[in-house]
Amino acid sequence: MLPRAQLDVEAALEKVRSICEDVHHRGAAAVREWTARFDGVELESTRVPAEAITKALEELDPRIRAALEESIRRARLVHRDQRRTDVTTQVVPGGTVTERWVPVERVGLYVPGGRAVYPSSVVMNVVPAQEAGVSSLALSSPAQREFGGLPHPTILAACALLGVDEVYAVGGAQAVAMFAYGTEECAPVNLVTGPGNIWVAAAKRLLKGRIGIDSEAGPTEIAILADSTADPVHLAADLISQAEHDTIAAAVLVTDSVELAEAVERELPRQVAATKHGERIAEALSGRQSGILLVDDMEAGLRVVDAYAAEHLEIHTVGASALAARVRNAGAIFVGAYAPVSLGDYLAGSNHVLPTGGCACHSSGLSVQTFLRGIHVVDYSREALAEAAAHVCVLADAEDLPAHGAAIRARFDWEIPS
Ligand code: NAD
Repeated sequence: MLPRAQLDVEAALEKVRSICEDVHHRGAAAVREWTARFDGVELESTRVPAEAITKALEELDPRIRAALEESIRRARLVHRDQRRTDVTTQVVPGGTVTERWVPVERVGLYVPGGRAVYPSSVVMNVVPAQEAGVSSLALSSPAQREFGGLPHPTILAACALLGVDEVYAVGGAQAVAMFAYGTEECAPVNLVTGPGNIWVAAAKRLLKGRIGIDSEAGPTEIAILADSTADPVHLAADLISQAEHDTIAAAVLVTDSVELAEAVERELPRQVAATKHGERIAEALSGRQSGILLVDDMEAGLRVVDAYAAEHLEIHTVGASALAARVRNAGAIFVGAYAPVSLGDYLAGSNHVLPTGGCACHSSGLSVQTFLRGIHVVDYSREALAEAAAHVCVLADAEDLPAHGAAIRARFDWEIPS
């Protein structure tokens, strides 16, 4: 019964459909026109020149560079371990099935840049794609008027650090359509990943099938499961940190302690008043999608967080690891007092592109797996096929598909009993 953010992607689909069709038919000219309309930038070309990417890295604050480099290093450690190995199963003598993992050939990575800019999302998109072995990688992020129509310089610098040189200054639905259909300036891709606002999500939903997509990563959510041992100052800070993303971000505390609930309630306005984006945060915290929930005990708390399936779930309880192991539905779980979501946003090594809106009960966050396809390679000898032949023919007859059985019989000069 916990309400979620009002995000009517279905309603956005109609508007997005006309943007996508326009890009489909008119290519780069349409992309430039929609960019002028929504981002107030007249682009000469949608592609960011190589010199702009190099220059952004040269001019990057060394402290930001060091932090990004460490973020990349840690993300690589985790994502490298996610690589899959091909597995061959011997089903019968002479009959094997191999699952071969093959990277998607060309991907389009979306990095948001409307209300806030996310160089960290460059890291979170690019590292798993690279570790999966994707050979052709394009990245797009909205054109910024104050930066001469280029994406934010820190985004460009992060691209340079990761060796990504195909970058587009395009945001919203027009970026997804550009990737899906291709234009004179951007070759079409097979898969589009990355978080974004409602227009990005709607375009991904509309174009799914023509392209592959990752899960819809919408407005940020944090749920915290806490008992009386939790520190209300930490909890308030963590709720606020995610409310900072968006006015429709969700921040939910689930606790069995009335004292803790009251302490967090007192702490929140104090911290909101002292923070930079107080107005946005206050709106997110007072929205119907945010709140504090009292439960009878931690068992009930577990059931609530499982039903809610938050993008981010923090656990601040006695025996937090044991409780975390029992959670079934969450995008990512942060265990104990020293694993705040902010760490995961930037530097834990985990991925921050995670399923929102309850999608965590059926989808995963971005990972190396997102960029791979498993291909079954079936290799049977004559003898191994002969052993299966009668069963195949019986099943083909049962499905009234006799030509299936005939394809087996054609290989043998003896009669297969039906
Ligand atoms: P964005 O880049 O997703 O969207 C900006 C673009 O939207 C603009 O370039 C513009 O072209 C388009 N646009 C703006 N108004 C429009 C309109 N009226 N009609 C059609 N198109 C329009 O950036 P954003 O708006 O800041 O949104 C980023 C979202 O991504 C936030 O909700 C944030 O919480 C979310 N996010 C999620 C994750 C995650 O992993 N779940 C991570 C980072 C960010």
